[in-house]
Amino acid sequence: MRNYIIFGAPGAGKGTQADLIAKKYGLIHLSSGAILRHEADKNELGKKIRSYQDKGQLVPDVLIVTIMAKQISRALKSGLVLDGYPRTLRQARALDKLLKNKKTKINAVLNLRLNQVLALKRIILRGKTSGRSDDNAKTIKNRFAVYRNQTAPLLDYYRKQKKLINIDGRPEISAIFKNITSRL
Ligand code: AMP
Repeated sequence: MRNYIIFGAPGAGKGTQADLIAKKYGLIHLSSGAILRHEADKNELGKKIRSYQDKGQLVPDVLIVTIMAKQISRALKSGLVLDGYPRTLRQARALDKLLKNKKTKINAVLNLRLNQVLALKRIILRGKTSGRSDDNAKTIKNRFAVYRNQTAPLLDYYRKQKKLINIDGRPEISAIFKNITSRL
């Protein structure tokens, strides 16, 4: 069974590539951001979640770890592509523990590399059609800072596990995808 993580700064193209990978290998694409947006506004907890998202801050680990554990356990039957999760060391450790319990593991972590100027351009473009309330200039700045401080350190965690594969995120979608499949 294949289990992958797609990693990268906001706007690097994680969602697009995760979709393509999932289709090609028959895997389930789990986007933590999309799962959280679905939860938002459902109830009081959902409202709290949305307030984090709207500020570009991370939802607390305990919350997201619980939500994702449920989804991941279900998806493991067919294999999965994780997009947006894990985003902190605590999340990564919780994920490793969960997968170990289920006698499986992450096969590879694909790190989509794109500089902030290009990433910003893509997010602004996406914001015009996504309807996402966090695709605006002020929140984006926060999301980049959160990525640098809390999420980028995970690269080292997966490098040490020899799972990290760096992918140039600048070319067009199909070229990136071709590169990814040649490396898996
Ligand atoms: P994304 O769609 O991946 O850009 O995520 C949008 C927002 O959802 C983030 O800015 C966070 O507020 C929240 N979020 C998504 N994934 C996580 C995660 N793994 N941990 C904490 N918050 C998350």
